[in-house]
Amino acid sequence: MRVAVPRETAPGERRVALVPEAVQRLAADGFELAVERGAGVAAGFADDAYADSGAVVVEPGVALDGAGAVVRVAPPSTDEAERLAEGTVLIGFLAPLTEAEGIERLRARGVVGFAMESIPRITRAQSMDALSSQATVAGYKAVLLAADRSPKMFPLLMTAAGTVAPARTLILGAGVAGLQAIATARRLGAVVSAFDVRSAVKEQVESLGATFLDLGVRAEETAGGYATELTPEQQAEQQRALEERIPDFDVVITTALIPGRPAPRLIPAAAVAQMRSGSVIVDLAAETGGNCELTRPGEEADENGVRIVGLLNLPSLMAADASRLYARNVTALLQHLAPGGELALDFEDEITGGACVTRSTEGAAT
Ligand code: NAD
Repeated sequence: MRVAVPRETAPGERRVALVPEAVQRLAADGFELAVERGAGVAAGFADDAYADSGAVVVEPGVALDGAGAVVRVAPPSTDEAERLAEGTVLIGFLAPLTEAEGIERLRARGVVGFAMESIPRITRAQSMDALSSQATVAGYKAVLLAADRSPKMFPLLMTAAGTVAPARTLILGAGVAGLQAIATARRLGAVVSAFDVRSAVKEQVESLGATFLDLGVRAEETAGGYATELTPEQQAEQQRALEERIPDFDVVITTALIPGRPAPRLIPAAAVAQMRSGSVIVDLAAETGGNCELTRPGEEADENGVRIVGLLNLPSLMAADASRLYARNVTALLQHLAPGGELALDFEDEITGGACVTRSTEGAAT
């Protein structure tokens, strides 16, 4: 099967779906690879590196010709979707829960779409779990952004000129991104507290050397390990508790998400007003509206001396390693869907059936 790697065109997207190392692995496995000229440049991977790894570097416009599969990071634009032939396998973050129109467009064209977001979180599919790989990068980068924006140093320093107190950091949401943020902030020497509505994470938080901040709010956990949405009363209780505790912190990193729903509102404007000047909030949930009431998605704002960072797509700011990890996820999925380079789709399989969000019109629609 021929696999095409187009250059990403979404604004600000620097990642690429396959890196040369992944190309080499897939080529050895029997796949043919066609990489659009310049596809990896923004992530630091030159065309020559792809060619040396066994790919054909093709000109824009003909990249998709003869491709049985197209692998991407972001969903295709309308034009890009219209260039996909019926029956083509498309792999990428296709936003099935939030971009109904884009999914419908793929379905209408008879594209066999596999959304990286929909890969079931089972042990067998761990190597394909791109939500986790990219959340790891985002959690790490969020801490670096916070450290950069903060006028305080993170570690405790004892110097001849006196002692510098460590930065007190609060991580809200201790899933994959939050746990990585805790670990990164600890490595920089910050004193870290964290909170999550899933009580099961308390132990993980503590094992990373952080303190679990008990806000007295608990949510049910779904079978997939996700938190359910809080009731309006619980949400109000959480906001009230945070308003009380938040002035203790120099840095707050928020990562709370409910799949397919707007981000839960954790930090009301009133809580921001309680924070000291020079404090920093990095809101990783900005993509889906933000965990902080004052977050402006895509922007950095200053609210009475409190910096609120709402930058989007943090993995793209670490494009080389984010792409390397994503490429391993995509490679594992390709090898699952097409062992030895031959497409063999079994929709009864939990991974194949679970990740498939549109099917060719010949098969029954999912
Ligand atoms: P996510 O990105 O959907 O959410 C991030 C975190 O926000 C979660 O921990 C969630 O509990 C928390 N949250 C939601 N509402 C909140 C609120 N109001 N206040 C505070 N926190 C709130 O989740 P994720 O990081 O993708 O992972 C969710 C779970 O899935 C984790 O337990 C993770 O370990 C597990 N997981 C399992 C596998 C697997 O293969 N078995 C793979 C990856 C993740």
